[in-house]
Amino acid sequence: FDLQNDDFTSLQEVGSGNGGSVMKVQHVPTGTIMAKKIVLIDAKPAERKKILLELQIMHDCDSPYIVSSYGAYLSEPNICICMEFMDKGSFDGIYKRIGAIDIKVVGRVAVAVVEGLRYLYDEHRIIHRDIKPSNILCNSQGDIKLCDFGVSGELINSVANTFVGTSIYMSPERIQGAPYSVKSDVWSLGITLVELSVGQFPFSGSFSDTDDDDDSDLERTPPADARPGSLRVPRSPASARRSRRRRSKGVSLHGGEMTLSIIELMHQIVNEPAPRLPAGKFGADVEEFVGACLEKDPARRSTPAQLFELPWAAYSRHNGVDMAAWAATFD
Ligand code: ATP
Ligand code: MG
Repeated sequence: FDLQNDDFTSLQEVGSGNGGSVMKVQHVPTGTIMAKKIVLIDAKPAERKKILLELQIMHDCDSPYIVSSYGAYLSEPNICICMEFMDKGSFDGIYKRIGAIDIKVVGRVAVAVVEGLRYLYDEHRIIHRDIKPSNILCNSQGDIKLCDFGVSGELINSVANTFVGTSIYMSPERIQGAPYSVKSDVWSLGITLVELSVGQFPFSGSFSDTDDDDDSDLERTPPADARPGSLRVPRSPASARRSRRRRSKGVSLHGGEMTLSIIELMHQIVNEPAPRLPAGKFGADVEEFVGACLEKDPARRSTPAQLFELPWAAYSRHNGVDMAAWAATFD
């Protein structure tokens, strides 16, 4: 494909994030429906060239677990990345529409992400760097694929929005400045799996909008409230007032539904016990898998290859869910 702006008709805006916006478009010369991601960059000509070169790697990716790419081009001051259109959208949109995702479907998500991470790393030495529900897409054939992986270091440096690269799915060691490793992606997968199966982002301490009914589904041991220095302070009228104030000043990080200061959240990720699934609800194999992802010490955390061998992964690969039929149950 030789891609240029004139050859596209816009069909519909499908969403936007910190880095840019995504449109459903038709490439008129070929009739192909695509998703076109428009990212505002701040880069010199040499850097722009390098970004385009690096994005070529996306083109070379060929896996059923990776969204395929049609190519990228510059449209000053933006860069446009054209990819396979996934008509059921991302898993964050899906769970926010239909609620907590059936655990067997979550199992298929886990398998797809592990396979995708293994493919990217084993074949291309790429670390994804941004695993989260909005970067896991689904189509009406029931395929589950990853998008928005970090192929271009130059692009990461050039994105105009400074909040890009700071994610609430970031692992404790990343927050503390360690370089990315494939194990940081595994942490983010763990957070994602808890979020999809519970239907709620797992860090919802006293600083989120959802804590007014303070009986979070998620269990932590020992109870966070009991520990000194904890961010989950017992409610008092004064603390409620304080957190309301924080909320109104907070950064919107999660589709506008949750506002909390990123510093406070990062503090929580580093200092609190890792989130857990509600005990006993989904079974020991699921808890083992999620626990292997949400190990705070990266040395003890599983690699994608180790996750692949766990009983829940083996089970989920052939768990009998008809993903296309599942995808047909919602718009
Ligand atoms: P962030 O910018 O923080 O990474 P995000 O992933 O939600 O957040 P974008 O990557 O800009 O932001 O994507 C916006 C939305 O567009 C996604 O939530 C997803 O629903 C949708 N989307 C992205 N790529 C595709 C695609 N290839 N096919 C269909 N929908 C897509
Ligand atoms: Mg994205």
